[in-house]
Amino acid sequence: MEHLLEGYRIYREKRWPELRALHRRLAERGQSPRTLVIACSDSRVDPATIFNADPGELFVVRNVANLAPPCEENHIGFHGVSAAIEFGVTKLFVETILVLGHAQCGGIAAALSDTPRDCAHSFLDAWIGLLDPAKARLRKGEKDPHTALEYESIRVTLENLRTFPFVQQAMENRGLKLVGARYGVADGGLELMDPKTGAFDPVV
Ligand SMILES: [Zn+2]
Repeated sequence: MEHLLEGYRIYREKRWPELRALHRRLAERGQSPRTLVIACSDSRVDPATIFNADPGELFVVRNVANLAPPCEENHIGFHGVSAAIEFGVTKLFVETILVLGHAQCGGIAAALSDTPRDCAHSFLDAWIGLLDPAKARLRKGEKDPHTALEYESIRVTLENLRTFPFVQQAMENRGLKLVGARYGVADGGLELMDPKTGAFDPVV
């Protein structure tokens, strides 16, 4: 914990004076981020760092393997990811939802592993099950199933987002955009998904 406090003291001394006015405005007027980012909890994939974003710019949901579940009928339970998506779309009126996948994702590796899952006793195992529809779409004999599943899981998550009625309505009524991207942890490269073809192309 001590290194975090040390980091805080550096932030307070060096960054805070630059951010003070921005934070005052954000405190007075409230936040109005234009983008909801669904990213992985992975410590190497920080959306604010990757997009050089200031406080107030991104509404971020992070979870294992940057997933969104489909809209579930049963509202009883603690649907944290779904609640954050609802808040971003219906209260903050974000213009874009960006699903940000990444290379070397541990969640993807877990989904590809042959180890039996214990969904009755493991939150993680049950959550990883969300990747099964994407896994089922991988081609037989795929040379790099890990990378292929990273791409496919982003496509499936975008499809899942469309199952939420409020997402569908926002797309129709005010042009909410759904975007997929993948970040290369080793090289810092970003690829963007073409919404028509589902192919990923590097951002230059
Ligand atoms: Zn990950």
